[in-house]
Amino acid sequence: MKLLKIEDQNFKGKRIFLRVDFNVPVEDEKVTDITRIEKTLPTIELLLSKGARLVIGSHLGRPKGGPDPKYSMKPVFDAFQKLVKAKVTFSEQVVGPEAVSKSKALADGEILLLENLRFHKEEEENEKGFCKKLAELADVYVNDAFGTAHRAHASTEGIAHLIPCYAGLLMRKEIEMLGSLIVRPQRPFVAIIGGSKVSSKIAILKNLIDKVDHILIGGGMAYTFLRSRAVPIGKSLFEKEFESEAFQIIDRAGVQGIDLQIPVDHVIADQFDANAKTKTVDKMGILDGWMGMDIGPKTIDNYSKVIKNAKTILWNGPMGVFEMDKFAKGTIEIAKAISKSSAKSVVGGGDSIAAINKAGVAEKITHVSTGGGASLEFLEGKTLPGVACLLVKEED
Ligand code: AMP
Repeated sequence: MKLLKIEDQNFKGKRIFLRVDFNVPVEDEKVTDITRIEKTLPTIELLLSKGARLVIGSHLGRPKGGPDPKYSMKPVFDAFQKLVKAKVTFSEQVVGPEAVSKSKALADGEILLLENLRFHKEEEENEKGFCKKLAELADVYVNDAFGTAHRAHASTEGIAHLIPCYAGLLMRKEIEMLGSLIVRPQRPFVAIIGGSKVSSKIAILKNLIDKVDHILIGGGMAYTFLRSRAVPIGKSLFEKEFESEAFQIIDRAGVQGIDLQIPVDHVIADQFDANAKTKTVDKMGILDGWMGMDIGPKTIDNYSKVIKNAKTILWNGPMGVFEMDKFAKGTIEIAKAISKSSAKSVVGGGDSIAAINKAGVAEKITHVSTGGGASLEFLEGKTLPGVACLLVKEED
């Protein structure tokens, strides 16, 4: 099975429904971060250069299945217009006669941006009639929204069964980069997994354990691992129901000869607060009434040494409560260590990306994945419906 490339096609005179992830932050009717729009520009420019007429659709936020001015795409339209040379118009209707006639009025190289797809509850329900209405807007479907590829919605899955479909450049890049971690990665392969909860990272840990050489654990989830090894964790974040799974993962890594490391020292606080009292403690564990908020200097050092020798690095999840300056050091130092290594590095998850930006090392990372949930599910080994529907048989 393979994905059909847009580079190989002639789209002159064709209307293309391009699903993008323009789910950008909006404040006071202004887009405050255009990163996600920028990431799709290569696909948009390529399609326009091939004479296509683009009907672009995206969701924005989580409206409750009906129109809600708070989630209108109009601010996105304003920001988007400034980023492309092409003529862009807006359709307040997502589907229906107005949207169809606007799509038919497009000339080669012009763009129609649709209102928020999630203003229709049928979008998330992947309802057949709604898929058909979306398909009436175009001759061809291109999906560049990797960030929603783990959802089988009308615009990410249903429509692909109705008109010829292709993967956009960003979609393909994400699949190729994340895929290269799973299929024949260069070794040593180091996975750095952090974030708040074991529960949300257990599946990725279980899938990666057969594929990596080192697993470095940090963040709030580390304390369930520590506790499973009888290290005192005070009032740190702890998920009792995952304690035995954490224990088993450490055990399995040992049996398989994988180097799994958990923090050997910690920055602790007397309360979950930016102005809390802090201390650094080592492997004796965390004092009663205190909580672990960041990995300590010895752990930073140990992890940095492993990172230095890596050939492939995957990082998902911060090492501590990096939103508070007092507890950001571990995460920032790990970001720096990754940026200094010559390994192929892939970073996913909104918080790790924010940390990469905070450390000012984004350009040194081989690939910053745009898809939080989607990249996690991909690395968990799950089939993403938004990708599966784009696959065609090799001989096609
Ligand atoms: P996740 O979405 O699971 O990747 O978790 C990200 C969140 O984990 C961030 O908001 C961090 O502040 C939080 N976090 C990281 N380390 C800790 C910790 N030691 N205690 C509590 N929360 C943490």
